[in-house]
Amino acid sequence: MALKDKKLNSKDCPYCVGKGYFQLLLGGSETCMSCEGSGQKR
Ligand SMILES: [Zn+2]
Repeated sequence: MALKDKKLNSKDCPYCVGKGYFQLLLGGSETCMSCEGSGQKR
């Protein structure tokens, strides 16, 4: 059986892992500067 880990899609932004934002420890979120919130690698 194959392990189903969260695999980083090659199209996903490596900084936010395709989410488009960062989750802040203190609460809230911040838009990823690298992909500008799209979550996609350019
Ligand atoms: Zn990003």
